Amino acid sequence: MTERTPGFATLAVHAGAQPDPTTGARATPIYQTTSFVFDDVDHAASLFGLQAFGNIYTRIGNPTNAVLEERVAALEGGTAGLAVASGHAAQVLAFHCLMQPGDEFVASRKLYGGSINQFNHAFKNFGWNVVWADPDDLPSFERAVTPKTKAIFIESIANPGGVITDIEAVSAVARRAGVPLLVDNTLATPYLCQPFNYGADIVIHSLTKFLGGHGNSIGGMIVDGGTFNWSREGRYPMLSEPRPEYNGIVLHETFGNFAFAIACRVLSLRDIGSALSPFNAFLFLTGIETLPLRMQRHCDNANLVAAWLANHPKVAWVSYPGLPGDRYHNLAKKYVPKGAGAVFTFGLKGGYDAGVKLVSNVTLFSHLANIGDTRSLIIHPASTTHRQLSDAQKVQAGAGPDVVRLSIGIEDKDDIIADLEQALAKA
Ligand SMILES: *Cc1c(COP(=O)(O)O)cnc(C)c1O
Repeated sequence: MTERTPGFATLAVHAGAQPDPTTGARATPIYQTTSFVFDDVDHAASLFGLQAFGNIYTRIGNPTNAVLEERVAALEGGTAGLAVASGHAAQVLAFHCLMQPGDEFVASRKLYGGSINQFNHAFKNFGWNVVWADPDDLPSFERAVTPKTKAIFIESIANPGGVITDIEAVSAVARRAGVPLLVDNTLATPYLCQPFNYGADIVIHSLTKFLGGHGNSIGGMIVDGGTFNWSREGRYPMLSEPRPEYNGIVLHETFGNFAFAIACRVLSLRDIGSALSPFNAFLFLTGIETLPLRMQRHCDNANLVAAWLANHPKVAWVSYPGLPGDRYHNLAKKYVPKGAGAVFTFGLKGGYDAGVKLVSNVTLFSHLANIGDTRSLIIHPASTTHRQLSDAQKVQAGAGPDVVRLSIGIEDKDDIIADLEQALAKA
């Protein structure tokens, strides 16, 4: 009998999980405990010395979180994962293993606003210097690389404008520079795009959005692609030099193609401490079981809503890569052929006032600052998240006075469109 490779939907339900060995529980239990009893003194010593895998303390690892890590790693086609308290924590922890004070990394300008803040402010305090590049001007990535560059960071589908990044082209720049490519795959999820197939070395997720999918928990994930050579040229000392606190072992030598995930756990998470609650891991596991069903519905609804808006007399423009004629449509066909995600922006001919009236009059849509919920969500960035910026800065950030962002849910398409129709009539 030949061994079958399970398909994506099967992995979404089963990867990493087994009936509980002591109770037979079929759903993964919530191991709501801080710590785990050692067999004896030798067992404790081997766990602390990284000579044996096992549970010590939930800041460093937990059996519920371990199922989630294995599941997301399987869906992405990576070697191992590390679940943490938020998408932002995942970014801090991953960079902590790559950067020394004074080092640089190149990042796409087209990122989630929170990541732009994190890189411009918190990261600078660690001495990690971001150099911005423009995904619409690919040579800008090459020009941004210097001898101090330690990584390149992009989003597959960028939040919020529906920008599709040419992952393969940027990964070629990373190869030539000898640095890993990190891809934030939050908006696409592995159902729509698996960045490791296009040369990514590390995948980052905010589980908070479509992977969890129900708007009920904050969490993040780092997935190791297992492809990068951390020892070449000694540029990544946390992976390629002996660790005094672990009996002098070299993580890359000992753990091979999942050394990065281990480093993020035993060096970053151990010391920075942003651990994921096992209760949240349970909610994420439950959400991920239906990821393929939800994501397809999100995309199908978004495509219909975007096409409907594009023909509405009060709408000036729609930026959705799923629409033929969109500037990213060809990249979307290559990288996200099943659908271009469910988050996009459009512009109102009536400008700022029309935006305020629209968000005030929707009834099915929720007016809030999140994406990737089962529910349809709406925000007018100029009057909320980007309020403090000048008009020129708003336009530069893709949050001009006329811009509205939608995250299309999985409700009936006719109800979603009817709500927009009645609210637009009042705008
Ligand atoms: C929300 C988001 C993040 C940050 O994730 P949190 O879980 O809120 O910390 C990072 N990247 C993208 C693309 C996001 O949408």
